[in-house]
Amino acid sequence: MDRSRSVRARPELFESREPVARTKVPGVDGPERLLELQRSAGNAAVSGLIARQRARTEERSMTLADFSQGVRRFGVTSVKTGTLEEQTQLLNTQFGAEDRLGDVLQNDIRAHNSPERRGGPGTHRPYASILAGFEDFERGMGGVPPVSEIWFFEFGFLPLTIQGQLRVRRGTMAAEFGGGKLALYKAAEAEATQKVIPVRRDRDRRPSRAERVTRDIGMRRIVSHELGHGMQELAYQRASEAADSRPELMARYRAQVGWVQRGARERLYDIRAPGVEEALAAGTEPDARFEITKENWDQGFREQPISKYSVTESFEDFGEAVMAYVQRPAVLQSRSPRRFAFVRELGALQPGDRGDRGGGGRRTGVRRGMTGGRHRLPASSLPGRSRASPRT
Ligand SMILES: [Zn+2]
Repeated sequence: MDRSRSVRARPELFESREPVARTKVPGVDGPERLLELQRSAGNAAVSGLIARQRARTEERSMTLADFSQGVRRFGVTSVKTGTLEEQTQLLNTQFGAEDRLGDVLQNDIRAHNSPERRGGPGTHRPYASILAGFEDFERGMGGVPPVSEIWFFEFGFLPLTIQGQLRVRRGTMAAEFGGGKLALYKAAEAEATQKVIPVRRDRDRRPSRAERVTRDIGMRRIVSHELGHGMQELAYQRASEAADSRPELMARYRAQVGWVQRGARERLYDIRAPGVEEALAAGTEPDARFEITKENWDQGFREQPISKYSVTESFEDFGEAVMAYVQRPAVLQSRSPRRFAFVRELGALQPGDRGDRGGGGRRTGVRRGMTGGRHRLPASSLPGRSRASPRT
């Protein structure tokens, strides 16, 4: 892929709500739940619960060879545990190209000789869960955007300016996507179980309960989110290849769910609250009570973000919406009908889908560039975009 066209997805610094059950007993919900069950249903129910939950949390093991073979179907030709030199190269070309972050890293190492900044091979390899994330995405979206390489590194790096000088620091991100390359860091393991989303709509200004997340499910969510960025990248690439007069992907998304640029930052409003859509369309300021922030995102708005992380910026909101569409469609539909509709428009024709569930004539369009999946995506999902980087 032409480097100038690549985007750098925002490094994933997932924020999430605390899981509801705080007492950690492997595979079960915690002692209180057990006691409650014992009281109400007896020991048979308890054993059943434990067995079910053990099965759910057990991770399948998979060899590197099987993993590499498995992702090959999605166009991934290289799976590697990266060296520091390879990470330097990637930082210079994909994950920080605008700053030549790889050179900054090498300068830092030479000047400060700080071993903790050296990165190095990644040790985490939940191969089965990562492959499952690709399969989930294919099932949900009808195909997978271009991913040519998967890299494992110990940790990622972020730019940092100290006294006017550009340096790097270790990031706590779980993953990054850029230029068709997916990087997974060791932090993904820990972050996976924090990738918690509500189980339903928030009501009466009270947050919905959130479910516990196994590492397997969490990794699949992380992969789905990153592949959502892959769809953004594909859209930008399409737009730069052909003069495309359709409104670009993220402009349409922002308008659909209530994002608006205000100075250097984006604000999110509850698009389904009275007068908001009209105000945004007219370029005027909606009622401030309907602004959604990280502090109030789960307080029962009409159109409800899927996670606190969604409220970071529209770019991440999109990744989270695609993730939820793939992993928890019913939850997304109930919380965020607008987001659900938007992603469904981009997404798959379900197997056996012959009818006219939206799309109409556009269905004959071919979504070039998606691999896997027997079903094609509507051409309407190929928006225009020419800006090289979505970062602000
Ligand atoms: Zn992201």
